[in-house]
Amino acid sequence: MTYAQHEHHEFLEASTQALADVTLQTALTRLTDTLLAGNRRGYAALADSSDLRDHAKRIKEHTLAHLDLYLEQLEASVVKLGGKVHWAATAEDARRIVVEIAQAANCKHAVKSKSMTSEEIHLNPALEQAGIEVTETDFGEFIIQVAGERPSHLVAPAVHHTRESVARVLSQHLGEQLADDPKSLAMTGRRVLREKFRRADLGISGANFAVAETGTIVLVTNEGNGRLTTTCPRVHVAIMGIEKVIPRFNDLPVFLKLLARAATGQTLSVYTTVITGPKRAGELDGPDEFHLVLLDNGRTNVLATPFRESLQCIRCGACLNACPVYRRIGGHAYGGVYSGPIGSILTPLYDSVALNPHLPHASSLCGACQAACPVKINIPHMLIGLRELQHHHKPSRLERWAYKIWSMALCRPWLYRWGLWAVRLMLRRRAKNGWISQMPGPGSAWTQIRDFPAPAAQSFRDRWKELQS
Ligand code: SF4
Repeated sequence: MTYAQHEHHEFLEASTQALADVTLQTALTRLTDTLLAGNRRGYAALADSSDLRDHAKRIKEHTLAHLDLYLEQLEASVVKLGGKVHWAATAEDARRIVVEIAQAANCKHAVKSKSMTSEEIHLNPALEQAGIEVTETDFGEFIIQVAGERPSHLVAPAVHHTRESVARVLSQHLGEQLADDPKSLAMTGRRVLREKFRRADLGISGANFAVAETGTIVLVTNEGNGRLTTTCPRVHVAIMGIEKVIPRFNDLPVFLKLLARAATGQTLSVYTTVITGPKRAGELDGPDEFHLVLLDNGRTNVLATPFRESLQCIRCGACLNACPVYRRIGGHAYGGVYSGPIGSILTPLYDSVALNPHLPHASSLCGACQAACPVKINIPHMLIGLRELQHHHKPSRLERWAYKIWSMALCRPWLYRWGLWAVRLMLRRRAKNGWISQMPGPGSAWTQIRDFPAPAAQSFRDRWKELQS
């Protein structure tokens, strides 16, 4: 499965493969069902969840409207605490900055806690090229690192694996036969990763939030690896997209209340790590050096467009679990680092709309993503916006004809009615037991993998007339 290993622009081919992958289908159903149910339970258990989500959205809107001010405030606060701030305009800048920090401090062994931003900039290959050993310490990330794959979910990067496939991958890597029992697999991970933490001299993390007024970096994890990554090694580098800043420490509980509930249905994640600069005199734990890399990589371009709302995303993954498309094809089919409904917006925006023509269409626009989102991002609206952008191109002759015929039919009610009657008749002739297993023309793509419901014997218009008479 090369799509699991490399980023690509082959959405249709990759999703066809994903639909035929039995292991993937089993894994996706198991996990997305659990997470989606958790999301609904989480919101229902919170009396004011809708108000709280509106409040979180307002904080994000305000922050993005004054992003320059809050980023400068964040920089000043981090520096005051003894940390260093680095501005990275591109992924390449960010990679160079992290490698230079590692080389200046003579670091050879890096441990990483889960960070989609570091995936976005392809940090691991750059560090390895510079002779630095990198180990992912989130267990899911560790599994896919060993398997040579990319994350397929924002919060559950190895969602495409079953416990059987995890046992297979780890057994092969460690050269010992492991049982496919989750507890013993987790204990094996613990044994291997503890040793990596013990040797590490560089810790790399992302940041779920960064508080401008205090310079605090906040990490939300379930495994405790984030704490070890940020306290054991003598150098800590946190990499974050510039949109992760929030103004005040008082804003933090709003997002903490929502993030875990939206992602997994937990009241709070197991570990919330609050980092305020490097180790101070008299403190036992913490790094000697703390660096914060602020990544732009196309975000400021998005800020000035109608897609600004996408920068409100707190990467909880809830929209992925709710999306009927993601739930069938998983994350690798989307081609970019970010998958699911929000990935269908971010990848075209950060990469290219032209190179990702299918992503804005990889949605039924059912609105399940927006309903699950802790900041109520109007994902369907932005997907439609991206579709509009695509149609700024010159339409093909076929498209021109199709729209001409469509417009003729819409302008002549008798023609429209006749067209509907003819199509209904044709489709009903093909149906068996109320379903059509093979559609004609372009509709055949639909029936390649599922049946199409036969139209009703009587049209809505006729039934309406009947009811009125
Ligand atoms: S768009 Fe909303 S639901 Fe999706 S990952 Fe971002 S915050 Fe979560």
